[in-house]
Amino acid sequence: MTSPGPIHGEHPIPQHTIRSARVVGDDGEESVLATVYCPVKERSTTVPECESCHRFHALHFDATARTTSVLCHTGPAGRGAERADVLRGVGKSLDPETPLADIMTRDVICVRPEVTVDEIATLLVRHGISGMPVVDAEGKPVGMVSRADVLRAAQERGDTEESERLTLRPDDVAPLDIEQGFHVYEPVKTAARDVMTPVVVQLHESASIRQAASLMAYEGVHRLPVTSDDGKVVGILSSLDVLRWFGRSCGYLIPPARKRA
Ligand code: SF4
Repeated sequence: MTSPGPIHGEHPIPQHTIRSARVVGDDGEESVLATVYCPVKERSTTVPECESCHRFHALHFDATARTTSVLCHTGPAGRGAERADVLRGVGKSLDPETPLADIMTRDVICVRPEVTVDEIATLLVRHGISGMPVVDAEGKPVGMVSRADVLRAAQERGDTEESERLTLRPDDVAPLDIEQGFHVYEPVKTAARDVMTPVVVQLHESASIRQAASLMAYEGVHRLPVTSDDGKVVGILSSLDVLRWFGRSCGYLIPPARKRA
């Protein structure tokens, strides 16, 4: 997101929030892809690429929003600055050409297709989110998995079974009798690839809110992955993000600590 940074001299230095896409594998290992949307190049760049750019000024950590940004001299003129003016001017006007990079959820959790539904449920609860992209080895989206998919998988599997009387042998220690009415829980083995909705719609981060809103409304999509030039996931856009942008532009200020859908 392009927004005014700390003031040095007369003009604030534009700042661009660093986004992170964390990919969780079936072994629990995580890899992180950190990117910045560059309004000059109109594409994603990496932080090292920014640091070697002649416009780079500094990295800036905002303790309130808990975000880190690249401060750089992109100049007061240009499309990025105009967009920032629109975003700063709460209630001023709605710009349907605002790029998705400015409004998408920028810290996104992704999973590989082999990750189990149990692990996905844990990630959804731990991060307070309602869905996440499923990505291949290159970080490109192959599907979306939601809370509803996880619940459906558990229901279809019939993950509880009532028994009249059972004897459990945990770790081959002493047998333990349990009474009628107790349920035996089998760990869910179903993986993300079995329950996900295959990706049929994805948008580039420079696509506009106008394009996203039209697609979501008329294709019945509530959540879609946002990708960079090389097709990797750099964010996620939900219908709620679009509504929040609309609400913010109409004058409603959203507390930064509120969780995203
Ligand atoms: S430092 Fe350079 S590459 Fe990075 S966002 Fe600014 S202009 Fe773009």
